[in-house]
Amino acid sequence: MEHVTDKKLWAHSGDSHILEPDDLWFQILPKDLAERMPRTELISENEERVTVDGKSFTRPLPRIFTKRGSNGLTIAEMSSRPPGARDVRARLHDLDEEGIWAEVVYASIGLWCSLIEDKALIRAAAHAENEWLASEIMGAAPDRLVPAALMPLLDVDDAVAEVAHAAGLGLKILSIPTGVAPGLKDWNHDYWEPLWAAAEEAGMVVGFHIGTDGPDQVVHGGPGGAVLNFLETSYGGQRAAAKLVAGGALDRHPDLKVLVSEGGATWVPFVGDRLNEAYRQHAAFVRPQLSALPKEILYRQVYASFQHDETAPAAMWAMGYRNVMWGSDYPHAEGTYGHTQKTLHELFDDLDADVRHRMMVGAFEELFPHVSRPPTS
Ligand code: MN
Repeated sequence: MEHVTDKKLWAHSGDSHILEPDDLWFQILPKDLAERMPRTELISENEERVTVDGKSFTRPLPRIFTKRGSNGLTIAEMSSRPPGARDVRARLHDLDEEGIWAEVVYASIGLWCSLIEDKALIRAAAHAENEWLASEIMGAAPDRLVPAALMPLLDVDDAVAEVAHAAGLGLKILSIPTGVAPGLKDWNHDYWEPLWAAAEEAGMVVGFHIGTDGPDQVVHGGPGGAVLNFLETSYGGQRAAAKLVAGGALDRHPDLKVLVSEGGATWVPFVGDRLNEAYRQHAAFVRPQLSALPKEILYRQVYASFQHDETAPAAMWAMGYRNVMWGSDYPHAEGTYGHTQKTLHELFDDLDADVRHRMMVGAFEELFPHVSRPPTS
């Protein structure tokens, strides 16, 4: 086996974030709309207030932020570092240091846009934000930075229109929350069929970042709450992917690809087995019928990114799931900033070269063939 222990490794990342400028909405939207857009403020050492279109709620900060994180930074330091979290040129420097080449870039504050309830507001915001993402983020390094488009998802016609706009700007992936807005049909319903058709037609990946089910991120209290709530964020991505498989969307659109970011990868074989068992053993109740077993469709069209999970590589080499993708989650506390090389070596050094290459580079390039190659891979 090739000895890679001392070599600098390079990987693409299926999961990272930009911290938007504090005044972003005021830069890109008229003042009366900007004032209604999401903002967060720290109100104590343990809590932040999120305000969206006049409605506020507080949420406890994940515990890791109130202590020293694994990267040794305190909360004050975390908010100011790494500098590349806010500054795209500093970001490219950080990526070079860490050994990350291309990456999918999700929003931070923008993820709260799924709580907007006014169709006109989210339509205007998505239109403006996607132009900003294309020029300011993708524009800084079009062969490396792959920003995920903000989507208006209160109305399927608005969503379809924004797919065309975002694709026209050169964006390659749609940021779609794992949970639909209250009162709307869920992702497995035919209501969304025009959206999947538009995304397939435009060659846009459907990006589900975990933890976007809705405002209720705190499901568990009491002993173990912080750990249990973190676990809980994983399930939304699994449910969303399963809905697109079981509801038939991925079967009807075989060129449509889904990326579930930050949720690990070992769940895919497990969920595939469960879907197959239901499809086979409960065949009399199954609608719609699919042209292939659900696990086959899941394996074919759903990609999954993980950052530290020790068992994720085995989903590929032991369980035949080839769409395992590494992700840094830069610059978040769950991510690998500051120890990316150590993590990459621990995860991948002992694997066969083709398996390693697939998880670090190949699966990403399949979704985003326009990116350039890492310096060595
Ligand atoms: Mn992430």
